[in-house]
Amino acid sequence: MTLNGSRVSVPQAVNILIVDDNRDSTLALAAILEGPDREILKAYSGEDALKHLLHHDFGVILLDVRMAGMDGYETADVIRSRPKTRDVPIIFLTSYNKEDAQVVRGYAHGAVDYIFKPVIPDVLKSKVNVFLELYRRTEALKTKNAELELAEKELARRVEELARSNAELERFAYVASHDLKEPLRMVTSYTKLLASRYEGKLDQDANDFIAFAVDGASRMEQLIHDLLSYSRAGERNSMSGFVNCEEALNDALENLKTAMDECRATVTHDPLPTVNGDTTQLIQVFQNLIGNGVKFRSDRSPSIHVSARQRGEEWLFCVQDNGIGIEAQYLDRIFVLFQRLHGREEYPGTGIGLAICKKIVETHGGRIWVESEFGKGSTFCFTLPGLARKENVPNKPATSAR
Ligand code: ADP
Repeated sequence: MTLNGSRVSVPQAVNILIVDDNRDSTLALAAILEGPDREILKAYSGEDALKHLLHHDFGVILLDVRMAGMDGYETADVIRSRPKTRDVPIIFLTSYNKEDAQVVRGYAHGAVDYIFKPVIPDVLKSKVNVFLELYRRTEALKTKNAELELAEKELARRVEELARSNAELERFAYVASHDLKEPLRMVTSYTKLLASRYEGKLDQDANDFIAFAVDGASRMEQLIHDLLSYSRAGERNSMSGFVNCEEALNDALENLKTAMDECRATVTHDPLPTVNGDTTQLIQVFQNLIGNGVKFRSDRSPSIHVSARQRGEEWLFCVQDNGIGIEAQYLDRIFVLFQRLHGREEYPGTGIGLAICKKIVETHGGRIWVESEFGKGSTFCFTLPGLARKENVPNKPATSAR
């Protein structure tokens, strides 16, 4: 039963089986044990009891030892021999003298308790209640276990489904952006051709329209290029190599040389370690983070520092800039695909760079986040798992400045 979406368990009536060939005694026992949380079934012989046991589950069986036909012990033997009823508690009812030998015989048949006739109602009630409570708890546990198993299966199914749909989506992004490249190249080159061939021969409107088309096509080219990089980012096939992070950083700086020279950016760095991973992808991470530090500069010349420090099993890298900074409410959002905090006119870009960094860092087994003070600068931090201890030696100390 569910109430407001949450599961509410309803106490379930538990069955008690009274087995006694004396009908008056059965009735008397039933009268003592009556209660709203239980259902009492009566059997007047061992055979009768076994029939009930075929069709119902019981929290406890009260079994008279002396019965005509199958006696209590024989009946208990059959009950214990059936897998379905093996564990049902039995309370033997006996008017025998309280001799040890009898008790031992009873336990040999799997009995869990004895009650001597004439029965003391309160003793009977409390013994039965203990077994009913035990039954309820066991059942509740079984239900919980079954629910847990179901939830686990459902979780596993969803994880699998998610992985499949992610893979499909990535494939789609790759195919779509790859296949769009060729027709787009045609649009770009012909609009550029139009612009150069008819320059000065058309009116201002026509010139403007061609300029818009050229601009749109080159932006789309950039977008497709970045989307392709995004769908390739995090590919696992080349992740098992060693990456010398200082070399990776130097390659990234080489790629950013023109942009850095234009605004006289300086980049310094700590000694950087060698880690496991994919060199091209880690170059991309450094390049995107440092490139952003250069792009989102304030009116000061960009000054960026890359640090690395070992924290337990992992390396913590930080790329700190002195740029425009980011307001606190946007710190998480900027790692989402296409999320930008500025218009295209202010700062060019597609909003894919940080999503690529996140994907690469996470597939390398790390995390990425940003700390920032608006107006003062940002520090992008990411972790990467370290190498095994003997390989975990940072490269030669070095500080380079550009
Ligand atoms: P893009 O640079 O193409 O806009 P990114 O995914 O690299 O895309 O960055 C997303 C947004 O996060 C940027 O548009 C910018 O608003 C913000 N951002 C990223 N890096 C920085 C930085 N170093 N300083 C300030 N803002 C940044």
